[in-house]
Amino acid sequence: MPLISEKYPVDKNDLFITGLSMGGHGALYLFEQKPGLFRSAGSTSGVLDLSSSRNRYRIKNLLGLTGNAKSDSLLLMKYSVIGNIRKIAASGKEIIFSCGTEDPFYQVNNAFRKACDQSGVKAIYISAPGTHNYAFWHFSIKYHFDFFKSLVPDSSVLTKKIADADILSPTRKNARFIKNHGIKLQQVAVDVGDKRFIINVFTKKGKQKQKFIVVHDSEDAAFDTGLRAIKHGGTFIALENNENRSFYSYGSPKGSVHQDPNRMFNKDNPYWPVAQKIIELLKASPKELIFALHNNKPGGNFILDTIATWKNISILSDKDPDKRSLIWIPFSQPEPDQKLAKEISFYKKKGMNVVYEYVPQSERGDGSLSVYSSRHNIPYRNIEVEAGVRGDRKSELKSRRKQLKYLKAVRDFGIIL
Ligand SMILES: [Zn+2]
Repeated sequence: MPLISEKYPVDKNDLFITGLSMGGHGALYLFEQKPGLFRSAGSTSGVLDLSSSRNRYRIKNLLGLTGNAKSDSLLLMKYSVIGNIRKIAASGKEIIFSCGTEDPFYQVNNAFRKACDQSGVKAIYISAPGTHNYAFWHFSIKYHFDFFKSLVPDSSVLTKKIADADILSPTRKNARFIKNHGIKLQQVAVDVGDKRFIINVFTKKGKQKQKFIVVHDSEDAAFDTGLRAIKHGGTFIALENNENRSFYSYGSPKGSVHQDPNRMFNKDNPYWPVAQKIIELLKASPKELIFALHNNKPGGNFILDTIATWKNISILSDKDPDKRSLIWIPFSQPEPDQKLAKEISFYKKKGMNVVYEYVPQSERGDGSLSVYSSRHNIPYRNIEVEAGVRGDRKSELKSRRKQLKYLKAVRDFGIIL
């Protein structure tokens, strides 16, 4: 299993094991030995009681049966699934097993079903016309997968990699960066209605453990910065949205669904399950800082003079002549406290722009992650710079460098929580 985890994006919370025939026995027997390792297990046409096959499959030699009825039957029980059923009961976990009505192991599976009832094991048993062959296994394995999927309610880990422009773009060279720095990618899916959302989770083990998030898939420099930020360790989470800013393209024609993913961090938002999963993946807590990375539209409205007119917003430093680069700090008080004032003055000295957002606890808020964080006392800094021109390497690099420069200042200040 460590080998598999190294090669594929495996979520250790959602491991399942199943098998057919003697493999069905193997799967359930392993589950009995290590119930903590798996969420559930299954067997199809399983040899769940080895005494049914004592003279076959070299079982006699493997178990060292002597011919003494009493000691042989003890050994056969010791190594049989049915003989260890109390371990499944003790785990409290549900299992699934199936067997064809013409299968030579049908009676064994019926006996196992009875044993499940007697021991209080919650099990789904499927018996249907069929024998010990691939036709039955093709039929029954689908039920195993459906059952396992039902145990993972709103998310699953994808094993199939999707083609992502953020990674594959020839000008941004992220594929090489990921490879050279041994960064791992896990893709987590969240289903909302008929729409499936994918969250990319990049991780690197190392001395740094900070967390970065990009919710707007259209913001390339933010993505590139997040990736580079975890060079020496950390977690970087990026919401996949076919390179769009808003949720347009999932199952609906463009224009009919419009949701800014940075406005879904409210429990009553229809996309709350996606937001909730992001919060969970970030392990958001008052103890750790979250960096949100954003890029604003070149020539757009997101400029210091405009932001200054917004409600509850103050510009506490305008030292950077580039009015589209800034650090955004939400806080639960109308004015920064002493600790925060010190941090802001550090950024001012570095020639950065600082935007301060007062988040009153009583107001509903705008569903942004900054408001959510402030409400939940999660320390949060948003670093925002003007986007580069997609596909123009020089422009892309300029934007990325600017974002990394702001990020470096925050790290240099070294917020101690
Ligand atoms: Zn953004």
